[in-house]
Amino acid sequence: MSTILITGGTVVTASGTLDADVLVEGEKIAAVLARRPGLEVSITADRIIDATGKYVLPGGIDAHTHMEMPFGGTFSVDTFETGTRAAAWGGTTTIIDFAVQAKGTSLLATLDKWHAKADGNCAIDYGFHMIVSDVNDTTLKEMDACIAAGVNSFKMFMAYPGVFYATDGEILLAMQQAARSGATVMMHAENGIAIDQLVAQALAAGRTDPVHHGLTRPPELEGEATSRAITLAQVADCPLYIVHLSAAQALAAVAEARDTGQNVFAETCPQYLFLSLDDLARPDFEGSKFVCSPPLRPKEHQDSLWRGLRTNDLSVVSTDHCPFCFKDQKELGRGDFSKIPNGMPGVEHRMDLLHAGVVAGQLTLPRWVEVASTTPARMFGLYPRKGVIAAGSDADIVIYDPAARQTLSAATHHMNVDYSAYEGVEITGRVATTLSRGHVVIDDGTYQGSPGHGAFLARELNQYLL
Ligand SMILES: [Zn+2]
Repeated sequence: MSTILITGGTVVTASGTLDADVLVEGEKIAAVLARRPGLEVSITADRIIDATGKYVLPGGIDAHTHMEMPFGGTFSVDTFETGTRAAAWGGTTTIIDFAVQAKGTSLLATLDKWHAKADGNCAIDYGFHMIVSDVNDTTLKEMDACIAAGVNSFKMFMAYPGVFYATDGEILLAMQQAARSGATVMMHAENGIAIDQLVAQALAAGRTDPVHHGLTRPPELEGEATSRAITLAQVADCPLYIVHLSAAQALAAVAEARDTGQNVFAETCPQYLFLSLDDLARPDFEGSKFVCSPPLRPKEHQDSLWRGLRTNDLSVVSTDHCPFCFKDQKELGRGDFSKIPNGMPGVEHRMDLLHAGVVAGQLTLPRWVEVASTTPARMFGLYPRKGVIAAGSDADIVIYDPAARQTLSAATHHMNVDYSAYEGVEITGRVATTLSRGHVVIDDGTYQGSPGHGAFLARELNQYLL
């Protein structure tokens, strides 16, 4: 078995930092060896990686991505191959993507379809959540078969009437079904019925620019839907995970439910921490680059979200990576913001942007690792295989240079999309080396991975449930 010794670095985990060397044997971490003055341990290895002055982190876990996702007659442009490669460049070693049930089709056939897209194409490991868009007796029965196949989180939508939208009754039925086995329901919480009325009013009045995507989806309607999802989950006694929480109103609802001990969890995304409605309002249709749902919010929501990350009412940061090119895709919505494909690129820069939050004093180093790796591992049944630097865990390791400087740009990023939402933004910190199960994927500015190295991860249940 080949061995790698990572020497001289500072190991950062969710529980703290440690000056330690890390020994990798084959695909696993064999030992974490604390360095102490006067204690000399000599270990030999096939390869030595010098991590002096750098952090040694468990690989990032992005629990919310959409590779090759069908939306509004087009597809998100990153394939599993290009998207997982870009993830590795940014220090993410696991993604959990969404298989999307189309109305009138079965969950298991959907899962097969998504396996076929990902199998043999991924640079890093991956799992799936299942989007349930057609609640009926067959679908409900198939949820158990999905769980047996390692997919035990089911996403539903209170938004997008006519597409993914589920009624409260359908949501309740799916939650009751999930609750029987302890599976988690993930919710896109926006009141889509009310939003559609606001969208129709705006278009009728000639308000067609991208900023109206944001103005017709007010934060109150995310707060309302979040509260309603929490109530339905309480009645069904089902674990609930609010995806891409963006608004202070929604965060307040989550915090209140968590204070009562209900199994309610939430994630936010870097775009809600760093970007705002001002970006949606950029002139010359540039705002379309920032169209995603829920929409970017007025700046004052950002402070609430950072606070929520510190208090653990927000426990995960995922990207909702769903890239559409500006040319030919975002442009479909010129003259009608409701036709702009919803989604933004982000899988490559989540770890960097959160590190910028550390540099700015918003998060501690251990909390950075916790929200980006350890908690998603536990939330989605991958711990301790993933999410920690410890003997026996997969050798998914990121060596991160906290002093490096980089400028984010479409000219240099590795995502298959023609713009960056952070064009020209300077960041302190950068990935030096990424290992996936003991294999070097990124090192010293070169990609050394291969499509097909990444393996499907059958996941256990949420590990936060009592
Ligand atoms: Zn999404």
